[in-house]
Amino acid sequence: QADLAMYRAKASGRDTLRFFDPAMQAEVSARAALAANLRRGLQHGEFLLHYQMQVDADGRMTGAEGLLRWQHPQRGLLEPAAFIRLAEETATILPLGRQVLDMACAQLATWSERPETADLILAVNISALQFHHPDFVDQVLAAVDHRGCDPNRLKLEITENLLRDDRDGTIAKMSALKARGISFALDDFGTGYSSLTDLGRLPLKELKIDRSFVQDLVTNERDAAIARTIIALGDTLDLDVIAEGVETEAQRDWLAGHGCHAFQGYLFGRPGPAATSAPRLDA
Ligand code: C2E
Ligand code: MG
Ligand code: MG
Ligand code: MG
Repeated sequence: QADLAMYRAKASGRDTLRFFDPAMQAEVSARAALAANLRRGLQHGEFLLHYQMQVDADGRMTGAEGLLRWQHPQRGLLEPAAFIRLAEETATILPLGRQVLDMACAQLATWSERPETADLILAVNISALQFHHPDFVDQVLAAVDHRGCDPNRLKLEITENLLRDDRDGTIAKMSALKARGISFALDDFGTGYSSLTDLGRLPLKELKIDRSFVQDLVTNERDAAIARTIIALGDTLDLDVIAEGVETEAQRDWLAGHGCHAFQGYLFGRPGPAATSAPRLDA
C-alpha cells in the first residue's frame, strides 16, 4: 500500500508530500520489519516466560509473575518494552497472548507435580485488546483445560485502563472466570483511571501498587500518602494488596509497617527462567 501511494504521488508530480520524509519512511519500514519479525518469531516459538517470585510478610514465596521475553535470533533476549506496544498495535498480541496463557498453564501443571511447588500462584499479564476479544473467556478456559492445570492457581493481571470500555461486559467476563476459580489483580494500580464505584463492583482479588510509588515512598511524602491510600482502599474493599518493584529493605519495612504484606521486586528475586528464578522453582 505504501508503494502504491508513493507511485501515485510520483505519477501526479506531487513530490513534496510528507510521505517522502526519509526519517519517517525509515521508521515506517523499521516498524513493518519488526511487525513481520514478531509474526515469524511467534511461528518459530521464540517467545518464553520469565518468572519473578512474589513473597509474603515472612519472605516466603507464594507465587510468581510470568513476564514475557523474546529470544530473538539476532538481537538476543528482548524485554517487553522492545515489542509489546507494536504487538498491541498490530494485534499480534492476540495470538501471542494465547501463547502466554498456554505457557503459564503448562508451567502450573509442571509445578503441581511436586509438593514444594504445587501451591504456587502464577500471575500473567493480559492486554486490553486481548481481554476485550469476544473469545477471551473461552481462550483462558481452553488453555487451563488443555494443560490440565488448577484454575485456582491462575491469576490474571489487568490494568485500570482496560476498565474504561464495556464495563458490563468486563464484569461479566471477570465473573465467568472467577466462577471457575481464576482470580484477578489490578496491575500498576494508581497510574491509570478507575472510579471507586467500579472498584467496588469488580470481582477483583488484589491491588498491585505501582512501582513508581514504591520507588521513593521512604523519602517522598506524596508517594507515601498514595501508597497508604491504596493499602487502606484494599482493606476497605477486602482486597489483597501487593507492592511491585520493591528493591530495598527500607521500602519493604515501610510497606510492612503500613499494612502491606505481599511483595515483588529485585530485593527478593529478579525475573528469570523457571529453573533458576528461585530455589523452589527448579521444577
Ligand atoms: P508489569 O506487569 O508491571 O511487570 C513488572 C515489571 O517490573 C517487569 O518488567 C519486571 O521485570 C519489572 N520489575 C520487577 N521488579 C522490579 C524492581 O524491583 N525494580 C525495577 N526497576 N523493575 C522491576 P518487564 O518484564 O520488562 O515487563 C514490563 C511490562 O510488560 C509489564 O509490566 C507488563 O505490563 C508487560 N508485560 C510483560 N509480560 C507480558 C505479557 O505476557 N503480556 C502482556 N500483555 N504484557 C506483558
Ligand atoms: Mg504485571
Ligand atoms: Mg505491574
Ligand atoms: Mg508496572
